[in-house]
Amino acid sequence: LKAGLSRTRQQLGALGDPISGLFSRRKIDEELLEELETTLLMADCGVEATTALLTELRRRWKTDKLESGEQLQEALAEALHNLLAPLQAPLVVSGHKPFIIMLAGVNGAGKTTSIGKLARHFQSQGKSVLLAAGDTFRAAAREQLMEWGRRNDVTVIAQESGDPAAVAFDAIAAAKARSIDIVLIDTAGRLPTQLNLMEEIAKVRRVIQKAEPSGPHEVLLVLDANIGQNALAQLKAFDAAIGVTGLVITKLDGTAKGGVIAAIARTHPKPLRYIGVGEGIEDLQAFEAREFVHALFG
Ligand code: GDP
Repeated sequence: LKAGLSRTRQQLGALGDPISGLFSRRKIDEELLEELETTLLMADCGVEATTALLTELRRRWKTDKLESGEQLQEALAEALHNLLAPLQAPLVVSGHKPFIIMLAGVNGAGKTTSIGKLARHFQSQGKSVLLAAGDTFRAAAREQLMEWGRRNDVTVIAQESGDPAAVAFDAIAAAKARSIDIVLIDTAGRLPTQLNLMEEIAKVRRVIQKAEPSGPHEVLLVLDANIGQNALAQLKAFDAAIGVTGLVITKLDGTAKGGVIAAIARTHPKPLRYIGVGEGIEDLQAFEAREFVHALFG
């Protein structure tokens, strides 16, 4: 799972390059700080996080008498690490059997891909996994998931009729009957018109709890880094509806908007369980603040 640092750095280059580029062979002055501010905003760090980072850098510039761009870069790395560190909280699969993970996110966020990666990740730890194909909006998606399950030896529970809450209920019953370790419950990312997505997934959550009163044990929200600041609005809406307990931020490879993680850390912090750094089955990593900052400009 944990790809090498150089690979991560390469993958996250699109965000790191403009920031790193700023510092080379320059002295710190107001102009440099202003350029940095603009760059952070353009990387979707958001106003609050950007202001907090700049305030800290100005403080260090004065009190620690920083002079070179390099020193400023180091100070930024440290400030960013301090900001992101609270998000580092790996998912721990506790004693519940089955351990029930509900996944939510809008269409295209990378939910299906992340479910595949997670199933593989848990299987590689010797755990049995069952999937609930609860994104019933696209029939083709269900077929795709079932085919994927056949190839990877993962049971997939689906329903022709396509009520996501019923699929979740069935999946939990099946997992109990088969003594499965982990259930991954997919939910709709879009609905036929006139239905309210948040109400629908809140219902799935309630039904999961009916099937297993201690669950869901993790409510993961999958967010696409490319949507930048919109990720915050999605996080707030999903959190209000289902009580998000962890995040998966996808497509951090190649995006220049990875700063959204800083915005989340500052304004609506949630444990960032995993980051997606590619389309491949192995391209999901546990989030480590230090490694992430290093990858940007270490
Ligand atoms: P869903 O609609 O939320 O289920 O989204 P999908 O899982 O189908 O993903 C949408 C697209 O994003 C697909 O082309 C995926 O291959 C791609 N994708 C998902 N995660 C990542 C990631 O971490 N990096 C990259 N580059 N692409 C990703």
